[in-house]
Amino acid sequence: MTRHALAANENPYPPLPSVRTVLAEAAGGLNRYPDRTVTDLVDALAARHRVPRSHIVTGAGSVGVTHHLLHAVVRDGGEVLYAWPSFEAYPHLTEICRGTSVRVPLREERHDLAAMADAITPHTALAIVCNPNNPTGTAVTRAELEAFLDRVPENVLVLLDEAYREFVRDPEVPDGIELYRSRPNLVVLRTFSKAYGLAALRVGYAVAHEEAAARIRHTVVPFGVNALAQSAALASLAAEDELLERVEAVVKERDRLTSALAVPVTPSEANFVWLPLGERTTAFAQACARAGVAVRAFPGEGVRVTVGTPEANDAVLRVAAQLT
Ligand code: PMP
Repeated sequence: MTRHALAANENPYPPLPSVRTVLAEAAGGLNRYPDRTVTDLVDALAARHRVPRSHIVTGAGSVGVTHHLLHAVVRDGGEVLYAWPSFEAYPHLTEICRGTSVRVPLREERHDLAAMADAITPHTALAIVCNPNNPTGTAVTRAELEAFLDRVPENVLVLLDEAYREFVRDPEVPDGIELYRSRPNLVVLRTFSKAYGLAALRVGYAVAHEEAAARIRHTVVPFGVNALAQSAALASLAAEDELLERVEAVVKERDRLTSALAVPVTPSEANFVWLPLGERTTAFAQACARAGVAVRAFPGEGVRVTVGTPEANDAVLRVAAQLT
């Protein structure tokens, strides 16, 4: 039986009581359609990030926003460039939007942005940089990203997927929402699924300049962000300080896992750690399963372990200690 769900990079803590109260109230109005323009949440996000409202596009999770973006920019066969391994939704969404995936291998578990820039062709429709990267937890620096962006033609959009931004502690890693201000072709992606703990409700958003935002908005499905998601996201922004304390606890646990694990572990800027176990991957994942811990195995490569509660992390530490 799974006692600890550490396979999907979720927040180990349930929504705050204040958020649950708002959800219970919103449940009383579920006979009505949600606010189609997501007015209150977009207002709150615009104030939070100090950006114009017109620069924000919401969707059903950040995956929903990525789908809209790909739909908007990929023509038949258009190339979508991204590092690999990275988030599995990129190949899937590229395929369903009839694009062509161009995968550039990670180098020592990090984005090889020079090789990605070399891989740009006249057919490149979109480049994606996952920062920090899922599944390795590694992050590119401001200097690396700026050098890459300088090499991307102005007509090619770059999606900077910052699903795990709140867990970043390395000051060299840029905040995309600062960077986008001087980069009209940069689309920054954020989500309420991770640090804000609302994965089941499906709400995410992009921040981008007017023209790029308008292109994404053009393909958005009406009523894509449901009423419960809008209310809970707003309430979570209002309780941000409390939620960020939980993020801090996860970061501390990440650092504890990183230093205490008896197997190799890649330093992470996200809410998960990557164990490059190669041939030992399956044995480790099976031992975790026997201990009631679900982790994500990439056979032959490694295991991705979401940082959980201290109790869950202790269970992972015990498995690792027994295997060595
Ligand atoms: N981007 C990355 C890099 C992810 O790892 C994930 C979730 N696994 C997402 C986006 C999806 O998040 P959401 O729940 O907002 O669709």
